[in-house]
Amino acid sequence: MTDPTGPDHSGSRRRFLQLTGAGVAASPWLAACATAAPSAIPARAMGMPWPDWGTLPEEVPPPPKPGSVGVAVVGLGGYAIGKALPALATAEGTHVAAVVSGNPEKAAKVAAAYGVPEDAVYSYETFAQIANDDRVEAVYIVLPTGLHAEWTELAFAAGKHVICEKPMALNAGECARMIAASEAANRKLMIAYRCHFEPYNLKATELMRAGAVGAIRSIETANNYSANRAHNPSNDWRLVKALAGGGPLEDYGLYGLQAALYLSGEVPVSVRGWTEQVPNDPRFTEVFSTVKAEITFPSGAVTKLVTSYNADNLNMVKVTGSDGILLMEPATYYDGNAMKLLKGGTEEVLMPGDSNLQFSRMVQHFAEAIRTGAAIKTPGEMGLRDIRLVEAIHRSAAMGEVVAV
Ligand code: NAD
Repeated sequence: MTDPTGPDHSGSRRRFLQLTGAGVAASPWLAACATAAPSAIPARAMGMPWPDWGTLPEEVPPPPKPGSVGVAVVGLGGYAIGKALPALATAEGTHVAAVVSGNPEKAAKVAAAYGVPEDAVYSYETFAQIANDDRVEAVYIVLPTGLHAEWTELAFAAGKHVICEKPMALNAGECARMIAASEAANRKLMIAYRCHFEPYNLKATELMRAGAVGAIRSIETANNYSANRAHNPSNDWRLVKALAGGGPLEDYGLYGLQAALYLSGEVPVSVRGWTEQVPNDPRFTEVFSTVKAEITFPSGAVTKLVTSYNADNLNMVKVTGSDGILLMEPATYYDGNAMKLLKGGTEEVLMPGDSNLQFSRMVQHFAEAIRTGAAIKTPGEMGLRDIRLVEAIHRSAAMGEVVAV
């Protein structure tokens, strides 16, 4: 599992799931899923059971403040229930105005917990009617990656602003379509890159700009865990090519790729990629098990990126400079991130803030951009840039040579 166990996720949750196989025993449907081929999961929006993580609030959130942006959440999986919905309910400028799901029982339960009226519960079939729902100004897409482009376009067609989960889409063509739809609708498009709002990653970026390690020579990133299909359908879409693309790089390695870009402050000039797909392993019939890349920046700095669904847990960023080293491990968890600066034989531990704030800060930024017309910090163009790099890494691996970008 990845995100499901998520790359994005806190390590403790991932370890729990790997050890327990939570969820399977309770459901014959899940047990059947666990033995089905990955491609048995259709690449269309459909109802799924209660996810393997995420809890509902004990009390219905207070009524929204005046001017709050009403958001419809599309897809009620682990990340939506665990992080996206709580963020929308916590941020000053947003509230949960509607939910969209293919599982009516799950949708009703989530709606009741967030005080969403029954007539603001939509299915994938009735979603188009949201165009007439003035309570909803924006849509948060929390579906598997292969459904991001289609549902972002549908949301823009309904006249709403869109915040879409990472990775933006399966390929650059889909990303370009999403940007064009945003422009045609004259509505905002934001990619939910939470680390741009996370205190450790913000502080690390500030330190790099201030020259805290001197000239950056190399950035090493690792985003690894061992996927396990035997838990929940949440784990399985990440192993289906039509829903997840190449697999680990788009899903978890994207954090390392992004970190390399915002820490270096540079855009790569070339990439060299390598992929592995373990033979005779039912997890990897459609996606890569491991992706490695060497990314070269104009300054000469190099990133060495590793991301795997077939390795022990690691979430690490290390920046080596002429005058020091910045080590972040874990670097991009939901919480519990750790960072230290090593210089001249001394070690400074940095604790710049509460990582949990990243979720509400991110949706607050989205709301403020909608209200003020300000530019989005993580726009569709950034998502497109990253997917182009992902494609270049995969292309390089297939060709066996360096690819200029
Ligand atoms: P999940 O499997 O837990 O939830 C996906 C949900 O999408 C399902 O519960 C279901 O409601 C819906 N869905 C509709 N059609 C589906 C289909 N054909 N197959 C599977 N699900 C379908 O996954 P998740 O971990 O919540 O991931 C959802 C999105 O959120 C992905 O884009 C993922 O990359 C992103 N994500 C981001 C973070 C982060 O830290 N930013 C973390 C986890 C996931």
